[in-house]
Formats: sequence, C-alpha cells, structure tokens
Amino acid sequence: MTASTSWAQRATELRLDGRAVIDGQRVSAVDGQTFAKHSPIDSRFLTDVVRGQTADIDAAVRSARAAFDDRRWSGKAPAVRKKILQRFADKILGAKDELALLETLDMGKPIQHSLGVDVPSTARCIAWYAEAVDKVYDEIAPTGDNALALITREAMGVIGVIVPWNYPMIMAAWKLGPALAAGNSVVLKPSEKSPLTACRLAELAVEAGIPPGVFNVVPGYGHEAGEALALHMDVDAIGFTGSTRVGRRMLDYSGRSNLKRVYNELGGKSAFVVFNDFDDIARAARTVAGSMFFNQGESCNAPSRVLVHDSVADEFAALVAAEAPKYAPGDPLNPNTELGALVDETQLKTVMGYIDAGHAEGATCAAGGRQVRTETGGFYVEPTVFTGVSNEMKIAREEIFGPVMSVLRFKTEEEAVALANNSNYGLQASVWSHNINRAHRVAKALRAGTVHVNQYDEDDITVPFGGYKQSGNGRDKSLHAFDKYTELKTTWIRLD
Ligand code: NAD
Repeated sequence: MTASTSWAQRATELRLDGRAVIDGQRVSAVDGQTFAKHSPIDSRFLTDVVRGQTADIDAAVRSARAAFDDRRWSGKAPAVRKKILQRFADKILGAKDELALLETLDMGKPIQHSLGVDVPSTARCIAWYAEAVDKVYDEIAPTGDNALALITREAMGVIGVIVPWNYPMIMAAWKLGPALAAGNSVVLKPSEKSPLTACRLAELAVEAGIPPGVFNVVPGYGHEAGEALALHMDVDAIGFTGSTRVGRRMLDYSGRSNLKRVYNELGGKSAFVVFNDFDDIARAARTVAGSMFFNQGESCNAPSRVLVHDSVADEFAALVAAEAPKYAPGDPLNPNTELGALVDETQLKTVMGYIDAGHAEGATCAAGGRQVRTETGGFYVEPTVFTGVSNEMKIAREEIFGPVMSVLRFKTEEEAVALANNSNYGLQASVWSHNINRAHRVAKALRAGTVHVNQYDEDDITVPFGGYKQSGNGRDKSLHAFDKYTELKTTWIRLD
C-alpha cells in the first residue's frame, strides 16, 4: 500500500454534491443546467455542478435580503453571532479531511497543504472575526456641550462574494469572516474551477446555527452567475478576488447598476530583492523557492520577480536552481507531494506559453521548463527558473500564475527600488539586507501592500492583505476588513 492509497481510496468514497445552497437548502438550478467538473489531478469526472444563471442569483439575493431585513442574523447581539461563528469554525475543523480532499480533487493542490494550510486557515479566519466582533467599539465625536454625536458601524446588507480557484476556501473565508461577523448576509459565487468546498461550507454554516438565507452559494461561470451577481440592483457590495482583468469589470458592473461598493483583491508580480549585505544567501534562495513554488505558483503574492545584487547573482541563481527539483510535481493525493497539478488545461497552456516566451525573449532556463506526468491525464509543470531576465520581458511583466520564477540583476539600491516598483502591480515585496537603515529605507520605498523583510511568507489573519496600484483596493484580513462590510453612521443629537 503506497502512502497515497488511503487518500485515493477515500476519494472514491467521498460524497460529491455540486448543487447550490439557497435559504439553507441544497437546490438545483432553476432551469436545471449543470456543468461537468473534472479533477486536474487526472481528468477524472467528479460531479455535475449547478450552472447558475440570473434566476438562481435572484433567488439567492432574495433569500439573503429577507434574512437581512427580518434581522434574524443582523439583529442578534454580537456575542451571540460570535458563539455561532465559533461553532462554524469548529465544524470546519471537524470536517477537515473531507474539505481537504474536496479541495485537492477540485483544484489539484497537494493534500498535505489542503489539510495543513487551507482548512486550518479557513477555520482560524472565521474564529478570529467571531472573537473580534464583541470587542470592537464605536465612537463618540468631540462636540460641544450641546450635542452628542455618535459614529456607529452598521452592517451593509447583502454582500456578493466572488472568488478564484487558487485558495478557494481561504479566499471565501477572508470575505465571509468579517461580512458575517458584522451581521451581513452573503451570496458567494465560487470559481467554476473549484466550487465544491464552498457548497459544503454553506451546509456546515447552517449546521452550526447560522440561520438559513444568511449564507448562500451559487456556483456557475463568471460571465453568467458572476455577472448577474455583480450587476444585481439589490446587492450592496462586492468582495472580489481574482484577476485584474475581471476586477476592471467589477467596477464597470457597479457603475452600470446601483453603484455598489467594489473591493478588488487582484493580481501581483511581487519583487523579492536580495542585497549583497545579507549574509545567508542560501536561506534567501530556499525561501524564495518555497514561496514561489508553493501552491504550484498559483498564488497572487508569489515572489515571481527575484532581483539580486550583481555580485551575488550567479551564486544565488545556482542555489535557487538547485532548490527547484525538490519541488518536483507529484500525485496530489500522496501526502509527501509538495507540488501538485495546475488547475486545468487552460492554465497549463498559459503557463507553457510563458515558458516559451521566456525562451523566445532570450532568458536562460536554469531549471525545469517542461510539462510532466502527462500519462496521468493531469496538468503538471516542473518548477521553472529563468535567469538573465530583463524587466521588459513578458515573463517579468505579466502575472503567470504558475511555477515560473524570473531572476534579474541590479547594481545599486536605487536601481533595485526602481526595478521593483516598475510594475503595474503592487501586492507584495520583500527586501533582504542586514543593514537596518537599508532595510527600512527600501521597505518604505517599495510600493506594495505588504513588504517582508528577511523573510517572505510569514503571515497571519491579524494583518491586512491587499494591493497598491492595479493589485486592488481595500484590504482583506485584520480589523480593517470590517471597513469593507459596514457603513459608518453619524447620529447627531441636540442636547437642550
Ligand atoms: P478570474 O478573475 O478569472 O476569476 C475570479 C472569479 O471571477 C471567478 O469566480 C470567476 O468565475 C469570476 N468571473 C470571471 N469573469 C467574470 C465576469 N465577467 N463577471 C463576474 N465574475 C467573473 O481569476 P482566477 O483565474 O479565478 O484567479 C486568479 C487571479 O486571482 C490571479 O490574478 C490572482 O493574482 C488573483 N488573486 C488575488 C488575490 C489577492 O488577494 N490579491 C488572492 C488570490 C488570487
């Protein structure tokens, strides 16, 4: 019996249900339409999934609005919402094997990561907002004696949530946590490439005591269910995570409908800047490889542009190229696998297209570069390192969303900062230096929502996550996320 047999066996016994969850019930599409969902691991058929249309979104929004208006959730005391959301988090942990397996089958990430990262992070996010909600106070303005001015936060109403496939549960939780804790109702449209855990989460929410209608899920395609949700006249805000291309559309949908708030968490091309005064180049190389190849490189914050000081660039490139084979793609159901399958054939072709572009533009492929495991019927690409990359090349400018790293060189601190900031994106960045002045100086100069110093992936729900420039607006995570899903109300009371 191989290490992966038990997960492979459990995969065959797993209950798969692609129906929507509206008003606390599993339902088919109004017109009965579905699409077939296959696994990127080996192209096996998983299940038919609801192909939501305007009528399904209408039903879900009606249910969410009714729940908001009769205050079955928004009217509960924060301490009560807290208890129920904590139970929701416990239910997620209680179903961890099932959720992890669903996530891995649906989008191809290694089971050890679904189990060790995605499920616990999702539960922690929900629990963290649950615990926060009865500890956040409102404000009283400094008025004269003749007035009392209250500044309060109120739930916004119905929140539409549209998320991508790379971390399906975590991305949903980053919106659900603050939106539900604040008392809103939610309609979630998961990616058509990874809909299964979202539907299961909505069932667990009802089991935990979140009233029916408060959290609805409608699977479907972006141009159908997604567009209907973003254009809906009775949705108060859209929490979107996805590509910059679709993020632009969100702003357009808002303008064409009811001017709903739009919060965009978009793409990235994060710079990882290594100075020659950092004395452990090998650690920097290990870190960048680990962060870049985690989740098959399908991370918005993947450090895909590595800028290295000229004097250590050759040594660094050799170290990082030696790291790459440690992330050889394997069976995602094998608990030892570090790098799984890309999400689908389209993504595979996109990534291979960028690898071709790297060769064509004259970069040197120092590691990887090939599609592998074709005999499985799945979509696997070797971790790939390009050296000799210039910032004008396509592989340095565009988000690849696959395991492809570009290594560039710089000679001065000024040049490093200019190169790092020369991007349409501004999600994250990293600076490696033992000179405290330089580390602070560069961290301040980098135009990114998060700057890491001498590390990359240390992260927590306690800190904001989001981008400058075309990486988005607003912030997920931390108490700041409440700003997205609450309205500020001023109540000015005259005192006679
Ligand atoms: P995508 O933009 O193609 O799709 C995201 C979601 O939008 C999906 O649910 C999709 O069905 C929906 N959608 C697509 N077209 C739509 C339309 N016309 N109207 C309404 N909805 C539509 O992105 P993706 O390929 O699923 O995800 C990858 C992208 O997500 C990358 O660019 C990545 O950087 C980004 N991302 C950003 C963050 C962040 O926090 N900044 C986190 C994760 C992923």
